[in-house]
Amino acid sequence: MKPPLRTRVWNLVKGVAFALAVQVSTFVAAYYLTAWAYARLGRQPPDLAVQIINGLLALGLGFLVVSGLVRLAQRRGWSPQGRPFEAMLRAMEQIARGDFNVHVDNPFGDGPFGVLVNSINTLARDLGQMEQLRQEFISDVSHEIQSPLTSIHGFALALQQDDLSAEQRAQYLDIILSESTRLARLSDNLLRLAALQAEHAGFHPQPYRLDKQIRALILACEPQWTGKQLDLDVCLAPVSITADADLLSQVWTNLLSNAIKFTPAGGQVQVALAPQGAAVAFRITDTGIGIAPADQPRLFERFYKADRARTAPTGGSGLGLAIAKKIVDMHQGTITVDSAPGAGATFAVELPLAPAEC
Ligand code: ADP
Repeated sequence: MKPPLRTRVWNLVKGVAFALAVQVSTFVAAYYLTAWAYARLGRQPPDLAVQIINGLLALGLGFLVVSGLVRLAQRRGWSPQGRPFEAMLRAMEQIARGDFNVHVDNPFGDGPFGVLVNSINTLARDLGQMEQLRQEFISDVSHEIQSPLTSIHGFALALQQDDLSAEQRAQYLDIILSESTRLARLSDNLLRLAALQAEHAGFHPQPYRLDKQIRALILACEPQWTGKQLDLDVCLAPVSITADADLLSQVWTNLLSNAIKFTPAGGQVQVALAPQGAAVAFRITDTGIGIAPADQPRLFERFYKADRARTAPTGGSGLGLAIAKKIVDMHQGTITVDSAPGAGATFAVELPLAPAEC
């Protein structure tokens, strides 16, 4: 692309000024050099010859100075053949090979070449971060799959023994069953999260009664809360919302099942829903084990489990809240947690009554 006329004129003025400065200084240098030489020799040629010699010497000196500067500029990368261009090419080759540990120095400042160097550095950094996330994801998934598989393998081997009582056999089968259910749930959740993140899930907002949906879900998991003798305190104001009912049902189910899972037998779970201006506020509060402040900021990251030692027996994979957060984000809402260890937890979801127009 051609630079604008003003820039071209300004560059020409700078070039002429530079050439004049070089020429004047080389003439001065030539004058003093020849004067010194004539003084040492003790004689001086005629005036015309002096002028010619000075002129030629000044031109020679000018050529030396300019070619020296050009070489220096090339070595410093101030020209397209210079080092940063080689460094940029090497960096691109490195990135293409999958090595993102790349940094190119930028001697060009904010000019177009500077922008190019910065873009290469940003590209390498972003690709490196993505690669790190991919590695972490693979290691998290492998870790989550490893423990139920080891357990299934171990108990299947144990079942091959002949001297087992019927009771032991039933117990081992139960474990195999629950571990395989855990694997199936993990794969379901992974697929769901992948679909949500790739925005394949589709988003179909429809007006519906949110309170009715939540009440039906609470009733659907009655066996779980009655099994633990939990006291359920439900206060749902009638609220109509325009949202994706299938996706939101996943949010309420995950929050409800966590509250039941992490509350010891005999505890209490409160569920409340109330309109709040142009939004609706949902709160679920339990009297369970609670969550340490240090864990709370990372709770909505995938695979994150607070206090693994205490939550390990619950068999979760740490994906439920990541899925809930993604769905709430899709609805332009917020999800927050308020908790203290041993003092229960409150999860609050706020959603606009209707999605904002895009
Ligand atoms: P999981 O499948 O492990 O329950 P989640 O993403 O739903 O995965 O939850 C992540 C972690 O957050 C849980 O492992 C648990 O440590 C913590 N957590 C979630 N809800 C509660 C709650 N109501 N009380 C205490 N801890 C909770």
